[in-house]
Amino acid sequence: MNDNSKMVRLARRGLVLVLSSPSGAGKSTLAGRLLQDDKDISMSVSATTRPPRPGEVDGREYFFIDQKRFDQMVKANEFIEWATVFGNGYGTPRKAVEDWLSAGKDVLLDIDWQGTQQVMSQIGDDLVRVFILPPSAEELHERLIKRAQDPASVVAKRMAEASNEISHWPEYDYIVINDDVDRCETEIRAILQAERLRRNRRVGLPEFVKNMLEGL
Ligand code: 5GP
Repeated sequence: MNDNSKMVRLARRGLVLVLSSPSGAGKSTLAGRLLQDDKDISMSVSATTRPPRPGEVDGREYFFIDQKRFDQMVKANEFIEWATVFGNGYGTPRKAVEDWLSAGKDVLLDIDWQGTQQVMSQIGDDLVRVFILPPSAEELHERLIKRAQDPASVVAKRMAEASNEISHWPEYDYIVINDDVDRCETEIRAILQAERLRRNRRVGLPEFVKNMLEGL
């Protein structure tokens, strides 16, 4: 039996885990799974000017806003990053991310390469960048068609954009290939677990070791 009274839980700084991939590589599924049984990580809900897809709920998948409101938020520096993707504005609201980080929680961002570059310049060491690759071009095409939530013209545009997104893979710390969603999930959890254990994030460590050494 575990003796929980002996468990040591040290204070640590929160990190920002970025997941990027071309559309259709399974990123949303993986993000959903990661959040399921992990209370220490929260998903940031982006604002977008694109219309909701069937089943999407305002404030859950995105905050659906018009261009005027989006421009206001950009001007007021309310986004930690923002970009135009497929002709629509997408941005990560700054406040929620900063509040979670200062509470020592991790934040999951599902953003594209442009946003990742901007967050990198602001957050630096506290950023962990993961890129999800599809197993092949054919598989990606099939997944985009199967999803069938977008009209055919949008699918074609997304396929063309995929090669642009994929070309940014060297800007990421970790690359996972989503040929098996269970294994991919395990790999991303392992990345998160290891990154949480990095010495420089464990702000409670110096005091912990100091006390230990005093007791020796
Ligand atoms: P979708 O419209 O399919 O939900 O998302 C399209 C693309 O926009 C995805 O690659 C997604 O990662 C990206 N995206 C979603 N939210 C944001 C955001 O807040 N900022 C940036 N830069 N990209 C985003």
